[in-house]
Amino acid sequence: MKELLSRKARGISPYVAGEQPSDRQYVKLNTNENPYPPSPKALEAYQNFDFSSLKLYPPLEMRALRGAVAAAEGVPAEYVFCGNGSDEILALCFPAYFDGDGAGAAFADVTYSFYPVFCDFFGIPKKIVPLEKDFTLDLSKLTAAGAQGIVLANPNAPTGIGIPLPEIEAFVRENSGRVVILDEAYMPFYGQSAVPLTKKYGNLVVVKTFSKGYSLAGMRCGYAVAQPALLEGLSRSRDCFNSYPVDSVCQAVCAAAIGDAAYYAEKRALVVSERARLTEALRALGFEVLPSAANFLFAKRPGTAGRAVYEGLRARGVLVRHFQKPRISDFVRITVGSAEENGALLRALREMF
Ligand code: PMP
Repeated sequence: MKELLSRKARGISPYVAGEQPSDRQYVKLNTNENPYPPSPKALEAYQNFDFSSLKLYPPLEMRALRGAVAAAEGVPAEYVFCGNGSDEILALCFPAYFDGDGAGAAFADVTYSFYPVFCDFFGIPKKIVPLEKDFTLDLSKLTAAGAQGIVLANPNAPTGIGIPLPEIEAFVRENSGRVVILDEAYMPFYGQSAVPLTKKYGNLVVVKTFSKGYSLAGMRCGYAVAQPALLEGLSRSRDCFNSYPVDSVCQAVCAAAIGDAAYYAEKRALVVSERARLTEALRALGFEVLPSAANFLFAKRPGTAGRAVYEGLRARGVLVRHFQKPRISDFVRITVGSAEENGALLRALREMF
């Protein structure tokens, strides 16, 4: 029946999400989820939600949610656009800011693997800029690509490497003639968000998520911050697919979550201190670990294939992510879990090495 599919559906190589095997209980360190539960205030909003209101479509303007995001981020509510996970918002960025016959989208060769998928799906040319040998990014090369717009993850994934805010600002200024889409999915663990720059630069879109820093991956909510003229591209694109991408429960829970800054600051600090502990422990086991600004580590053990590390851990009940791709097949990406989960990972590695 394959002939009934469009050429696009047949030909595309979709993004592959992290596995969720059900054959046994795993310590799941493969999709960069937060090990801690969502805020008690989010739970309260969930429990107090008026179930009968589900007969109605969700609030179109998402005023309460956008207001809560705006308050937390220190921007006006008109600067906030919410979507069904930041993946959806990133997807909408491509038809919003790129032309099929334009100069294309520039991004790194080693970065979030959804970007090339979106380009292929929306028929947008790719301008791929190689990272340096040490996996840092020479921003001047991204500028020199001469693309219609740029997509940049900060901190980057899967490397975890962060770029300091002053460098980001200089980069956004230099590229004032093109849109810069900054994917800050892992920014809570770095603390150098470019959101305040959106007031100053009309070419900057910052995309963030409730999935990682707010422990709400299962709710599917993300947001973009940019000047209203740029956000119009996102809403015009969204309204060609789905007018109500964020359900009512999600709007209420996320609005409550983002108001609980103190709770999340405490949990972030725990992740950051576990990140340091895990980095040291992996180095003691012979791993080279890239410096991480995120809630995961990208590590390789010289002499051992990345696939073998992944498989050895999987056999011991610990899931990490391995990418069979050029430049990074020696590495595994390990989510920083709770102290207990990280302990299980280290015990498994000590059995192997
Ligand atoms: N950006 C990056 C770099 C990511 O790793 C992820 C998570 N896979 C996302 C965006 C998307 O996160 P979500 O759709 O859960 O908001």
